[in-house]
Amino acid sequence: MLVSQLLNPTLREVPAEAEVISHQLMLRAGLIRKSASGFYTYLPLGLKVLKKIEAIVREEMDAKGGQEVLMPIMQPAELWKESGRWDVYGAELFRLKDRHNREFCLGPTHEEIITDLVRGEIRSYKQLPMLLYQIQNKYRDERRPRFGLMRGREFVMKDLYSFDRDEAGLHESYQKMYDAYCRIFSRCGLTFRPVEADAGAIGGTGGTHEFMVLADSGENAVVHCSGCDYAANMEKSECRPQVIDDSSPEGKSKLVSTPGVKTIENLSEFLAVPKSATIKSLLYQGDDKIFLVLIRGDRTLNEIKLNNTLGGFVSLQLASSELVLQTLGCEPGYVGPVGAPDGLLVVADQEVPLMKRAACGANKPDHHYVDVVPGKDIRIDKVLDLRMVEPGEACLKCGAPLKEARGIEVGQVFKLGTKYSKALGANFLDENGVEKSCVMGCYGVGVSRTIAAAIEQNHDDNGIIWPMPIAPYHCIIVPTSNKDSLVVETAEKLYQELKHLRVEVILDDRDERAGVKFKDADLVGYPIRVTLGSKTLANGQVELKERKSGETYLVRVEDLSQEVK
Ligand code: ATP
Ligand code: MG
Ligand code: MG
Ligand code: MG
Repeated sequence: MLVSQLLNPTLREVPAEAEVISHQLMLRAGLIRKSASGFYTYLPLGLKVLKKIEAIVREEMDAKGGQEVLMPIMQPAELWKESGRWDVYGAELFRLKDRHNREFCLGPTHEEIITDLVRGEIRSYKQLPMLLYQIQNKYRDERRPRFGLMRGREFVMKDLYSFDRDEAGLHESYQKMYDAYCRIFSRCGLTFRPVEADAGAIGGTGGTHEFMVLADSGENAVVHCSGCDYAANMEKSECRPQVIDDSSPEGKSKLVSTPGVKTIENLSEFLAVPKSATIKSLLYQGDDKIFLVLIRGDRTLNEIKLNNTLGGFVSLQLASSELVLQTLGCEPGYVGPVGAPDGLLVVADQEVPLMKRAACGANKPDHHYVDVVPGKDIRIDKVLDLRMVEPGEACLKCGAPLKEARGIEVGQVFKLGTKYSKALGANFLDENGVEKSCVMGCYGVGVSRTIAAAIEQNHDDNGIIWPMPIAPYHCIIVPTSNKDSLVVETAEKLYQELKHLRVEVILDDRDERAGVKFKDADLVGYPIRVTLGSKTLANGQVELKERKSGETYLVRVEDLSQEVK
């Protein structure tokens, strides 16, 4: 490629609209242009980077047995109603109607569509596991679209969905994706940490991990261990299960049978929480002090609209405690199931230590306790101390001190379980001919956000410093004179030679001063610059400069291709 032909409008000034470095540099380096808030056009160099990350992601998905599909962006409301998310997804969902007044949305994610596909096509356990993925635009009407590609309203995501016969299968698929994600971000040349995003409230870990690219500008606070690979998102809670004695026998609770009440459905509806998604623990603190704690073992809080987090619980501003009780049909003191095997709801009219350490073990399907004296009546198998992990603390795994860092979420892996397969009826027949729900996982990579994250992590005052594997071109050739025919001709010759060797090379053949070309080369961030000047070339040499280290050295013209290759 010749720079004179390339649509690469670089800017000297920092655009006023751009707050963070990656956004500023992407505009200045001529990689993207804004069309509307949260919507961007990729110019040729920006698109090259995107395609490189996509290619790495695709290779790693294929290597794990992922099969690529392409699903529609427009999704019919019916499927979202079936899953229960239509009414609870909220304002982030772009909704629209066709000419017949039928409702659709633009996919922010594709659980509904993929589960609908699988329920139609999968019949037998022999077809499982099945890993299906796509790389495609996603749409989310973010409240604050900002920071350029970091938080767009249209963005490119790789989303893979795993379908397994059972939990063990899911675990394997999850591990595959976890490994693939580590490979993806390593191959992109990024420093990252997989962090426990919401360590299991019921003692378990590993229900979900976020992949964080470490950068000072990151929106997420993470802690990571200086001695081992432990890392967690600080905003999510760390749970520390410990076994304590049975509570005292002085309580006066009764276990009563209440078939069919307190379903997760009516709770999720009331809290405006997608029932299909991600609930692990909730604390409701109403005006007049009613506390609700909902514990489920396999969900996280990902999609709940949070007002603030308190030590791992979420405090939601709801209308009034009376309304909560009315909706849930239960009274203060209620401790009972909420429709999931490991679901437990605790309602209290005062904040007691127990509320901060929700108990599990008091659950029995279709029963609940009345007249509970929290802390006395509940047989506590585990206490979950749901405070946040603090930097400086000793790591639970190895004892070394934890360090704080900032991270940008570039990916997340997630155990979904049977939430969607049950809601939509994605079943299969097992070896014994018994019908079962597929056990699902979902796994997202923010492909376009990864570009921004890479820049946040790799830049200096002069511009972007691309890691080689995702650079738009590996090498730029800069002839410093347009008049010296030896310079011009050698530049052209070297350009052809490198191209022939499949080096991704670009030639700055513009009629510009050397200083302008150098500035642009640094700004765009090509990893290697080859400079041809009259003097050095008269000695048969060209100058090689590494963008990252800033080191320059001279090499003989005939050795260049060997050097660069
Ligand atoms: P965030 O917490 O930043 O809002 P998320 O947790 O809502 O992200 P997921 O649903 O986990 O996002 O989607 C998978 C990946 O898609 C994220 O890890 C992130 O890299 C990317 N992503 C999510 N929202 C956006 C966005 N608005 N713009 C760009 N990338 C995004
Ligand atoms: Mg997130
Ligand atoms: Mg989000
Ligand atoms: Mg996420």
